[in-house]
Amino acid sequence: MQVTRRQFVKYTAGGIGATSLVALGFSPKKALAEVRQFKLAHTSETRNTCPYCAVDCGIIMYNLGDRSKNARTEIIHIEGDPDHPVNRGTLCPKGAGLIDFIHSPTRLTHPQYRAPGGTEWQSITWDEALDKIARLMKADRDANFVARNADGLTVNRWLTTGMLAASASSNEVGYVTHKVIRSLGILSFDNQARV
Ligand code: SF4
Repeated sequence: MQVTRRQFVKYTAGGIGATSLVALGFSPKKALAEVRQFKLAHTSETRNTCPYCAVDCGIIMYNLGDRSKNARTEIIHIEGDPDHPVNRGTLCPKGAGLIDFIHSPTRLTHPQYRAPGGTEWQSITWDEALDKIARLMKADRDANFVARNADGLTVNRWLTTGMLAASASSNEVGYVTHKVIRSLGILSFDNQARV
């Protein structure tokens, strides 16, 4: 095929133009990478804290559903919160896999109770669990509270019950939990650092 000088200049200019467009991000590959944005287009965001360890990374959970009554929402994506001062959007592999934890078929979604001497666990409601915990705490505190020591000094101790706080507690939750537990007289208090 014969190519005139004019045709050569025209084809060369077209080729350079196409290459430049690719360099500027107009390639089909780049366009396909934008699909993720559309996946989240109709979701609503909820900010939360990764429950796995005491680093307390901030997360954003994206869920489908408009939260109207009787509508079932579903979390479809979780990522690090870029505005969170602890992690600035980053997550370690455990945090990055949170979506699998949420949808795991073996995930416990209700409190479990096993009666003294029993061998079977049973699911109970949160109200039942909280009532049970409150009743047991009151009975134990009434029976074992130490107002004064052997020298007559006021000590207000409750030594027969301890408290283990969750690793996902924020500073504020940790502060309030500490105040409540100490005001009851409990001395054994720890914070779970890693799940
Ligand atoms: S498990 Fe990982 S993502 Fe979760 S709080 Fe700890 S460091 Fe952050």
